[in-house]
Amino acid sequence: MTLVFATNNAHKLEEARLILGARIQIKSLQDIGCHADIPETSDTLEGNSLQKAKYVWEHYGIDCFADDTGLEVEALHGAPGVLSARYASEAHDSAANRKKLLESMCGKSNRNAQFRTVITLIKGGEAEQVEGIVKGNIASKETGSGGFGYDSLFIPQGYDRSFGEMTAEEKAAISHRKRALEELCKLLQSTK
Ligand code: IMP
Repeated sequence: MTLVFATNNAHKLEEARLILGARIQIKSLQDIGCHADIPETSDTLEGNSLQKAKYVWEHYGIDCFADDTGLEVEALHGAPGVLSARYASEAHDSAANRKKLLESMCGKSNRNAQFRTVITLIKGGEAEQVEGIVKGNIASKETGSGGFGYDSLFIPQGYDRSFGEMTAEEKAAISHRKRALEELCKLLQSTK
């Protein structure tokens, strides 16, 4: 089976190939000659991942899936959520986003948060969604230099280190993306 993953992110592609196994050939947007900046204008993770998968299906007619991830903080009523990449500004500046998050959390005792990834699969024109969640809390200061985005501020449940202090393998083993990809794998097995 061939599936397009609506991304050109090499790390995401590698992770998906590892989890979905050799029987599924995963192609990137570049592999199918798609160089468009696919719109992500929804106000939910579900909407954005559907929008991206639909774009590929409607323009290329190939079975595909797309993901969208957000950091959801309880004390901020789910923010930054779908706006995680552009929390501080449209500039997609991770350092500015982390600074804004720390400022927003100043004085808050409830530090509960979760990373949530929503994947939309479109197979034969039918869309289905799965999600992967990792729960944790927001640290009071940045620790570690690994990872990206909010990693240095997120301490997963059951750990006393942030994602930023973990090796890539340690984080990948418990990440929201891995969990969502595992759900996708189950979905593909059940819809064969
Ligand atoms: P995307 O949907 O995977 O592009 O993720 C949107 C935004 O969420 C990213 O720009 C990051 O700010 C944040 N994000 C997603 N996944 C992670 C992660 O594993 N660690 C830290 N931040 C993340």
